[in-house]
Amino acid sequence: MDQISGSIIQWYHVAKRDLPWRQTTDPYHIWLSEVILQQTRIAQGLAYYNKFLEIFPNVEILANASEDQVLEHWQGLGYYSRARNLHASAKYISSHFNGKFPENYEGLIQLKGIGDYTASAIASFAFHEDKVVVDGNVIRVVSRLLGIDSDVRQAKTVIQLKSFVESILPKGESYFFNQGIMELGALICIPRNPKCGECPIQTHCVASKKNLTEVIPFKSKLKTKKVRFLNYLLIEAKNEFLFIKRGAGDIWEGLYEPLLIEAETAFDSFDSFIGHEILSDPNNAIENVRLLPAKKHILTHQELWVTLCLVRLKIKPPVLAGVWVKTEKLNATPKPIIISKLLSALEAGQLHLDFKS
Ligand code: SF4
Repeated sequence: MDQISGSIIQWYHVAKRDLPWRQTTDPYHIWLSEVILQQTRIAQGLAYYNKFLEIFPNVEILANASEDQVLEHWQGLGYYSRARNLHASAKYISSHFNGKFPENYEGLIQLKGIGDYTASAIASFAFHEDKVVVDGNVIRVVSRLLGIDSDVRQAKTVIQLKSFVESILPKGESYFFNQGIMELGALICIPRNPKCGECPIQTHCVASKKNLTEVIPFKSKLKTKKVRFLNYLLIEAKNEFLFIKRGAGDIWEGLYEPLLIEAETAFDSFDSFIGHEILSDPNNAIENVRLLPAKKHILTHQELWVTLCLVRLKIKPPVLAGVWVKTEKLNATPKPIIISKLLSALEAGQLHLDFKS
């Protein structure tokens, strides 16, 4: 076995954290953990992982759930496309494979919604197949180890790093090696101030020797984020709230939101909302208005400024689109995290304006 991989495996056996997805070879559990941890820290992801398995203990149960149920239990994790893809893949596995995962990379990669990384992770962690698993932690460790200062956002750099990992992958022990190198990135070779003194591969590490750990991995700047102003009109009548399900082709597909007025600016007064047809109808008498100041919400490629205006009507108006949600069902309605935060702020009385007719 290569010296580097041997040192990593040895270190892993001593230093590893006991995480539930490391105590199972069930591909469904491993798949779920990989999807959750793609954009979520372990501390937060753990609770969701446990809860999700409680509600959807196997792939068949997940496949038979409605999209709303799946999104409801994903609320707060963000990146909802992960939940929708998970659900779609579960349906596919259920209908094409009787709920049983293919047992190797070649079969797994054919599954709708499962890409190279996830297929490699399931193949390695559930079926102990000799596949490399290259995530952000591995990229950081290996680029420092080799002193590679080219842009790790570029595919050719990742290919270079991956082929190095393949060259030191110990056949038959790849499970421990993959877990080990990921754990090393999570615990020792951390983004800022890596703990090189505790690192099992320090003697081989170029970045540590040349004092380059703060500049490697090099990442080019992302494009500037698109700025959007989302002004929400939350209509309440008789203890029910009007929500609309978002369609495809934009952020938050499949989640529920109040009536949206997207504009060039964040609305800072009730007057800006008055033009909406539901408010201009004289039959819809207003009982109460509450407006929250705009809150900033950052997504990967967008900067959102979100305003929420709650308008309580005296009677429930007929509406062509949307669903009325009872107060007690508000929590269970899958919605963007920023909407949940604004609803909590409303409840806590953090109001900008409180107008009563
Ligand atoms: S020696 Fe330091 S920089 Fe190099 S791999 Fe180990 S922790 Fe990372």
